[in-house]
Formats: sequence, C-alpha cells, structure tokens
Amino acid sequence: ESSLAKDNSTDDVNPDQRFKGHDMLAPFTAGWQTTDLDPLIIDKSEGSYVYDITGKKYLDPLAGLWCTALGGNEQRLIDAATAQLKKLPFYHSFWNRTTKPSLDLAKELLQFFTARKMAKAFFVNSGSEANDTQVKIVWYYNNALGRPNKKKFIARAKSYHGSTLIAASLSGLPALHQNFDLPAPFVLHTDCPHYWRYHLPGETEEEFSTRLANNLEELILKEGPDTIAAFIAEPVMGAGGVILPPSTYFEKIQAVVKKYDILFIADEVICAFGRLGTMFGCDKYNIKPDLVSLAKALSSAYMPIGAVLVSPEISEVIHSQSNKLGSFSHGFTYSGSPVPCAVAIETLKIYKETNIVEKVNKISPRFQDGLKAFSDSPIIGEIRGTGLILGTEFTDNKSPNDPFPPEWGVGAYFGAQCQKHGMLVRVAGDSIMMSPPYIITPEEVDELISIYGKALRETEKKVEELKSQ
Ligand code: PMP
Repeated sequence: ESSLAKDNSTDDVNPDQRFKGHDMLAPFTAGWQTTDLDPLIIDKSEGSYVYDITGKKYLDPLAGLWCTALGGNEQRLIDAATAQLKKLPFYHSFWNRTTKPSLDLAKELLQFFTARKMAKAFFVNSGSEANDTQVKIVWYYNNALGRPNKKKFIARAKSYHGSTLIAASLSGLPALHQNFDLPAPFVLHTDCPHYWRYHLPGETEEEFSTRLANNLEELILKEGPDTIAAFIAEPVMGAGGVILPPSTYFEKIQAVVKKYDILFIADEVICAFGRLGTMFGCDKYNIKPDLVSLAKALSSAYMPIGAVLVSPEISEVIHSQSNKLGSFSHGFTYSGSPVPCAVAIETLKIYKETNIVEKVNKISPRFQDGLKAFSDSPIIGEIRGTGLILGTEFTDNKSPNDPFPPEWGVGAYFGAQCQKHGMLVRVAGDSIMMSPPYIITPEEVDELISIYGKALRETEKKVEELKSQ
C-alpha cells in the first residue's frame, strides 16, 4: 500500500456511519487501512450498480469479485433460493444420501461443459475449495494407480487459485505466500505467459510460447516426470492482472504435459460461463482438461457454490478402486447443499435462455474498443482483454521495464478517482482490472468508459506533477 492509497479516504462520511477500527479481521486488507480509514460499506445492489450506506451509487465493473455475472437483483435467482429455502433449506450429500437439486445440477453442468466429455461433478463452496479438492483427487488417483511418487503440482507465476493453504500454494502471487510459510513444498511454479512483459527483443508470440513450453519441459525433466502429477492454469489469468495467453501457448503447453502423463487442470473460476465470449475458457483456447474448477458465475454469486468436473478416466479409476480404497473420504457439510444448487440451476437456465455467450459477444466490442482507445495515454503500458474482462497496466515510457515508483501509487490514485466519480475498479499495484456483469447495458458501458477517461486524465496530471517535483 502506498501513501497515495490514503487519498482514498472518506472524509465526507456522516459521523454515525463511521466504522474506523471495526471488529472484523478483514480479508486482503491491511491493518492500517481499518484503523485510519472508514471502510466503504456497500448496502444495496441494482443491475450493474451498488450503493454504499450513504446512498452513493457506484458502477460495479468488477461484478463484485468477478462473480455477480447477472448483476445485483435478478429476481429469478431470489425466487429459486426462496422456494428451495421453504422446501428444504439443508440436507447433505454424504454416505450416498443427497438431494435432488445437487443431482440435477451435476447433470446440467456435465451437459454445459462441452470442450470434452466430463463424467462427474463434485460440489464445494468456493474456488479455493475446488482447487484444494483438485489436489486431493489427483493424489487419490495416483495412489489408486500405484504411483505414490507422482504428486507434485506445477502452477504459474502470477496465477491466482485461491487462499486456502493449498490453493494459496498453487497461486503464483508472492503476497499469498509471504508471512504464511507457503508455498507447500510439492508446488512448483513455471513462467507467467505475459507476452508484453516478458518477451525477448524480437521474439514473436509464437516463439515466446515455444520458449515457455520448453521451460516447462525442462522443469519437468529436472524434477523427474514420474514425480509431477498435474499442471494447473487459468485460461485467462484473472487476479494476476488479466493476462491473456499468447498465440499457440495452450497448444504447446498441453503437448508437453501430455507427453509426461501429467494431468491438466483448468481453473475456470473466473473464465467460465461466458466471461471470455465463449461458454468456457477451455472452448476459447481449445483446452482438453482432465479436471475443471468452477465457482463465482456458477450461481452469479447469489449463493456460495463451486464445483470440480472430473474426466471419465479419473472418475473410472476412483470408482473401480473403491473396493480397495474405501470411500472417497473428502467433502464439506455444504457440498451440494440444496439452496446454492437450486440457485445455480436457475443461473444456468438463464445463461441458456438468454444465450449468454451471444449476449457477451454483442456488448463486449463496445467495452473492449471503448477502453482500448485509451491505449495511447502516456502513462498506460498495455490495455488487454477479451469478452468482458480487461486489464490496464500503468507504466512509464510505455515500457514494462519502466514501472512508476511504487510510492507514487499511480494505480491506487486512478482507483480513487474512479471511486470519486462513482465506479469501483480492482487495483493491484499499477494494474487495474475489470470484469463487468453480463447484463451491463450499452449506456452503462459508455458511462464506464467516460469515468475511466476522467480518472485517467486526472491520473496523467498527477503523474506530471510527481515527475516535476
Ligand atoms: N481460482 C481463480 C481463478 C480465482 O479467480 C479465484 C478467486 N478470485 C479462486 C480460484 C478462489 O476462489 P474463492 O475466492 O471462491 O475461494
């Protein structure tokens, strides 16, 4: 956190709405923020907007945390939850007992995912639990196959896979490791595929992809292919800064992992259900995964739910070994809980009925082209995105090698200007991220672009001032 982040203060907050020094140990929040500043307290949502407790309205182009895909007040989801709450608020899915909504949702999800055939769905409450579950499934699978040494995971620098112990270990963001004694020793990290930042002079995207695939192969050979169980990747990296794979990247990476009998896990927690302009990220990049992680837009975030999709091959091993290995002793009280499942079923119905992919593709050029028109700004290094996801990187001289001094807090300043003008973006250092809800209207996209433009001009001015000091 830089000093400029403190510009994000809320001096105009009414005294009886001050919550400095509140009682929450707040996630992804620094202690000084909770003592020095009032939190922004969101009270109500409506379509693409949220309102704070003072009544101020904000456009919400991150859709909560990349998740409220159908916006803030979809009545069908409220009704689905209410009806299920009245009928059966809870029953579990342990010991071959279960509920109809969880069975129906599993069936529906397997039909939804068509990048390849999947055989089973395992329900969890979050993306982190999905990825922790992935590790346990993979280990169980390799134990069942009598390959007890094939246990290591390869993830990528700058990836985000969640914040439980194992999901944080898989993640490639130093902040998730520092001070938590992570990553766990079985996790290795390979290159971040950010072409703009990491390509060598004169290297094409294809050559960059080849180099990264070669590096991955080298890592596998160095560790011993018999020790590497799985590779995990987000089709488009989200929290790491909206990083799109360079041309031919996934083709080459998949060839390497296949060669060494390493499973491919697609972390679709952000990309799934239309975000990239395809139903899944796997569809967009021709990924044939063995396992898939889902959460967020699965229920448009109206209820916490996630899922792991399991390939027929893995499912078959788990199934056929059950006499020997006993039960699959993994699960959560709320695995497949009926209310979240009912909401997810209704969400998927809406995606189908409204042809969500077509809808995203109809609105996304306005969003992408409108924002990419700011690429010429002297403080912007790169604007990148596809479908309804977009990242902006502030840098000096348009070069990845000339970041602004962190103490200038350029990204934080931009974020604060957006907030002042009534828009909440995700700021991480000098990287800005957006993933608006699919229901965003053309007028709202125009408003988003207008606020972005205003905040950008103010930030350019601030940078000029800082440079002249
Ligand atoms: N995977 C990805 C790709 C994510 O973006 C996230 C959350 N942003 C997670 C996993 C973790 O999900 P959760 O916060 O629901 O645990």
